[in-house]
Amino acid sequence: MDMEFYCVGSDGGNPYVPLMVSSNDIDLDNCPECGRTRYNKQNRDLSLVIEGRGKLPDYLPCVRSLSVVSQRVIDVWQKYDITGYTAFPINKLLDKHRNEVHQDSQYYNVTITGRMELDFERMGVAIEYQCSTCGTIEYNRKPWEFGSAFIKEGSHDGTDLFAAKHFEMAPICTRKMLEIVYNEKLTNFQFKHFETKFIYINSPPPIDLKAFFKKTK
Ligand SMILES: [Zn+2]
Repeated sequence: MDMEFYCVGSDGGNPYVPLMVSSNDIDLDNCPECGRTRYNKQNRDLSLVIEGRGKLPDYLPCVRSLSVVSQRVIDVWQKYDITGYTAFPINKLLDKHRNEVHQDSQYYNVTITGRMELDFERMGVAIEYQCSTCGTIEYNRKPWEFGSAFIKEGSHDGTDLFAAKHFEMAPICTRKMLEIVYNEKLTNFQFKHFETKFIYINSPPPIDLKAFFKKTK
């Protein structure tokens, strides 16, 4: 039986994070080889500016698609032995006037460590250039022109949370994650079928978890 995989995202909305602040470099400027600016993945000193009022959701929508989740999410993932990620605590949550937001919950930046590879051959995607210094890649097509996504057979390392090689910021998960989010009522998570990972225009609506579990259980 084929494993079913899903893309994980936040449902968007308010409050959200339009900006991050740090005492370190948030971006590393001007790669000496290709000149590109890229996100500093080693930075562990991160505070987030919050826009909007109200209770923060468990999955906090964040600029640049950073995965930011509440203490409750981390606790639940530990309880169910979710594998394939590391997390470091966000320093502070600031409102847009830079006063500290008082929250009961600690928030975390999640780094996806689980891996799989896309079946580029089946997808008709080719790497045309890869920077040997920063790893930036150019493809023969833009990602929004990739069409349906396929997994290279045998490339998934068995983790619950994982990302495709070259697309390390975008979490993918197994069905177990959908069950946990639904059963534990974690807020603001959104899932879509893995095949539609690169379908942005006229994409099918996100999975309705209530209907999903009623139908298949
Ligand atoms: Zn480079």
